[in-house]
Amino acid sequence: MKYYSTNNKNQFVSFETAVMQGLAEDGGLFMPEYFPSMDSNFIESLEKYSFQEIAFRISEKFIEDEISESNLSDIISNSITFPAPLILIGEKLYVLELFHGPTLAFKDFGARFMAKTMGYFVAKRSIQLNILVATSGDTGSAVAYGFYDTPGINVFILYPKGKVSLIQEKQLTTLDKNITALEIDGTFDDCQRLVKTAFVDKELNKKLNLTSANSINISRLLPQAFYYFEAYKQIKDKKLHSIFSVPSGNLGNLTAGLIAKKIGLPIFKFIGAVNSNKVFAEFLRTGNFVPRSSIQTLSNAMDVGNPSNLVRIREMYSDILRDMQNDIYSESYDDIQTRQGIKEVYEKFNYIIDPHGSVGYLALRDYTRFSQEFNGIVLETAHPAKFKDVVEEELKINVEIPERLASCLNKEKRTVELSSKYEDLREYLMKFL
Ligand SMILES: *Cc1c(COP(=O)(O)O)cnc(C)c1O
Repeated sequence: MKYYSTNNKNQFVSFETAVMQGLAEDGGLFMPEYFPSMDSNFIESLEKYSFQEIAFRISEKFIEDEISESNLSDIISNSITFPAPLILIGEKLYVLELFHGPTLAFKDFGARFMAKTMGYFVAKRSIQLNILVATSGDTGSAVAYGFYDTPGINVFILYPKGKVSLIQEKQLTTLDKNITALEIDGTFDDCQRLVKTAFVDKELNKKLNLTSANSINISRLLPQAFYYFEAYKQIKDKKLHSIFSVPSGNLGNLTAGLIAKKIGLPIFKFIGAVNSNKVFAEFLRTGNFVPRSSIQTLSNAMDVGNPSNLVRIREMYSDILRDMQNDIYSESYDDIQTRQGIKEVYEKFNYIIDPHGSVGYLALRDYTRFSQEFNGIVLETAHPAKFKDVVEEELKINVEIPERLASCLNKEKRTVELSSKYEDLREYLMKFL
C-alpha cells in the first residue's frame, strides 16, 4: 500500500515515510492509494474476533509487508490495551465508551498506535527522534502517555502557562523519562508558533531530527477505524440500520468512521455533531467551506474553526457534495443545549455523559427522533470526570475521578519554564542533546 498527498496524486510514499513525515512536503495530508475491502465473512463473523484481532486484520491491509506480522501484532497488543465497550442506555440507543485509556479520551487509541508504530521505525532506522507538540490541553497528554518510555524518542510538550485546567496540567507535567513539559509564558497560539518556527529552522532540524505528532498523522487515523468495527460487533440487532453520531472538531474521528464504512463495515449513516464551531455543518449544507477562528465552548476539544481532516473527506468522496450528504449529516449545538443534553441523558437514561458526548447525543436524537428503525450509537469521546465542573453543576451529583487520572493529581509537577521568544526555545533544545 502506498500513500499520496492530497495536494499531489502522482507522487507516492511508503507507509513508513507517511508516518515519519506526518505531513507531506507539499503541505498535503497523506491518503492511502486505494481502500482495501475487508472480507465479508470477517464482517459477518466479527463476534468471533477480539478487539486486537480486529485491529490486526484491518491494519495489515494498510501496512502490508512494511511491518512483519509479529511486529505488527506487538504494536497492536501494546497500543490497544483497553476496551471500547458499547453500552445500551435506552431502546436501540447505545453509547460507545472510548475513554478507557490512560488519559480518559479517545485520543489515546490514536496516540498510542502512532507512538508504537513510530517507535518501531525509529528502532529499525537506529535513529533518535525528537517530537515537539503544542497543546491547549488534551492532545498533549494523549501524546505524552502514548510515547512514554519509548526508546529512541524524546517528547517536548509546549503548553501555555496558567491556561490549562489543573487536571490537564498534572497529566502533562507528572511523567518523567523521555517526556518534558515546557511551560510557555504565553498563549496556545504562541506555543503553536514556536513549534512551527522550530520545524522550519533547518539547522535545528538537522541536529535534532524533529517531527510532529499531530492528529493528521495517518498512524493516528488508522487505529480509530478499529473501534467502529469493535462497536458494530457488539450491536445486538444487526438487522436494523446503524447510525453513528461522532462529536467532531478536526474531523479525524469522523474520517476514520468513513474509512471503516469504505472498507466494508455496514454503517448506514454518520452524524458529524459539532458545537458552535460549525463550519463543517455549513459546508455540508451549502458546499462552501469558510474556515473561521474558533469560539470557546464547553466541549472545548471540538473548538476548531478550520478542521484539518476535511480535505481527506472531500478526497474520499471526490469532492461530490451529494455523495457526502448521503453518508453524513451534521448539526450544531450551543452550550445551553449541551448542558440540556447532559441533563436529559441523565434523567431519561440514567447515564452520565460529558459535554462532547452530549453534542453527539443531541444530534442523534434530532436526526432519528428515536425511530425504532435504527440503532443509534453515540461516541462518548471523553470521560465525564474530565469535565467534572460542568457535569456536576448540571446534575447536582458527585462525579468520581477514576484512579488512573486521580493518581497523577498527587504527583509533583515538573516543567521547564520558557518565555514565548523562539530564541529561548531554540537555545534550550540545542543544549538538551
Ligand atoms: C479531540 C476530541 C474530539 C474531536 O475529535 P476530532 O477527531 O478532532 O473531530 C471530540 N471529543 C473529545 C473529547 C476530543 O478530545
